[in-house]
Amino acid sequence: MSCAFTLDHYRELLEAARAGGYRFAHFDEPPRRGDVLLRHDVDLSLDAALRMAELEAGVGASATYFLMTESVFYNLASTEGTAASQRLRELGHRVGLHAVYPNAALDERFDPVVAWHNPDPEYMSAPVRGAVNVMQEGYFDPPTYRSDSNQRWRSGCPHEELRAGGFPWLQLLTHPELWVYPGATMGATMRAMLDAERERRLGQLAEDRIDLS
Ligand SMILES: [Zn+2]
Ligand SMILES: [Zn+2]
Repeated sequence: MSCAFTLDHYRELLEAARAGGYRFAHFDEPPRRGDVLLRHDVDLSLDAALRMAELEAGVGASATYFLMTESVFYNLASTEGTAASQRLRELGHRVGLHAVYPNAALDERFDPVVAWHNPDPEYMSAPVRGAVNVMQEGYFDPPTYRSDSNQRWRSGCPHEELRAGGFPWLQLLTHPELWVYPGATMGATMRAMLDAERERRLGQLAEDRIDLS
C-alpha cells in the first residue's frame, strides 16, 4: 500500500480504522478507548471538503469539518458556502468553527467546538468559553494525534497502526485539499488546486452574467 495523499488512500485509512475495531466519534465528549475523531480543517476549498465528505458518508464514516468565517480563500456567507455547510450536515457530519485568534464567535451554523487556524503555542490548548477547543486537555495528547500538515505526516501515516489497533484512541487531522487535488508535494498540490479553481471561477463568472467571449 502506498501512502499517497489521494482519496483512494484516505478511504484505505478509514477502512484500516474499521479493521482495527475503531468507531468514529466527535468532539462533544472527551474521546474514549476505541474512538477515532476525524477532524478536517478546511483552510482553502469547500469543494474539496465536500468531495471528502461524500467519500466518508459512502463508507459510513462521520467527521467534524471546521469551517472558517474569515478565510481569504472562500466565503462561508455566500450561497455556495451556506449550501456547503448544509450538505456536510446532510451527509451526517458535524460542523465546527475554524477560528482565527482571538475571534471564536460561534453562531447557529456551528456546533460548540473550535479549532484555531495556525495557532501560536500561547493559546493553542487554552480553554475557549462555551466551546470545546480541539487541542485542549482531554481531546489532545501527542501520542494519540496525527496530522497531515503541509502534506507531511510528522509521525508517519497512521494506517498500519490503525489497522493493528495500536492507538487507544486517535484524533486524526486531515486537510481535504491535500487529498483531493493531485500532487506529490504541497507545492504541486496547491498548483493543481489553483488550476481547478480557475475553471470553477470561470463558471462562477458565467453564472454572474459576465461576458466571457
Ligand atoms: Zn498510509
Ligand atoms: Zn487552518
